[in-house]
Amino acid sequence: MDYKQYVTVVEDWPKEGIKFKDITTLMDNGPAFKAAVDDIVEYAKEKEIDLVVGPEARGFIIGCPVSYAMEVGFAPVRKEGKLPRQTIKVDYGLEYGKDVLTIHKDAIKPGQRVLITDDLLATGGTIEATINLVEQLGGVVVGCAFLIELTYLDGRSKLDGYNVRTLMQY
Ligand code: 5GP
Repeated sequence: MDYKQYVTVVEDWPKEGIKFKDITTLMDNGPAFKAAVDDIVEYAKEKEIDLVVGPEARGFIIGCPVSYAMEVGFAPVRKEGKLPRQTIKVDYGLEYGKDVLTIHKDAIKPGQRVLITDDLLATGGTIEATINLVEQLGGVVVGCAFLIELTYLDGRSKLDGYNVRTLMQY
């Protein structure tokens, strides 16, 4: 399927010069959203995953339907102060500033095969931080799946040695 026809490119948002890829118009279209999730589920089957991990908020939108279809769990990665129990954290730089990501300390069992999902790969800072959290807990990152990759920001250079699947490239 040509998924790009369902993505809306918003000029100068959230800042001048940024062409934001709005995936809500893809999510709004039932068959397109299902096809995109199904493509990632096929990838997850190849990788024989035990768990899906996704950063807030759009990583949940992609990751949860994949975990449901695979009948495996989903563990959320969130900004600091959002998770109620004991967490581990990592500092990271993102496209529009700096932040901290956290995950529950007991979210992953050592050796579990983890698929990380997010809507979009830009500079790779968010995925790199998420991989760091998964690996701190002993998880094995067997795949990283995104709807969109901004190839001009070269996020893949941070993902050397990891398997990456993206459905659209800009
Ligand atoms: P990175 O950390 O790779 O630089 O940025 C990726 C993160 O920023 C993802 O979590 C993604 O949701 C968000 N992001 C950055 N740019 C865009 C964009 O153009 N569209 C969408 N939907 N998300 C973006």
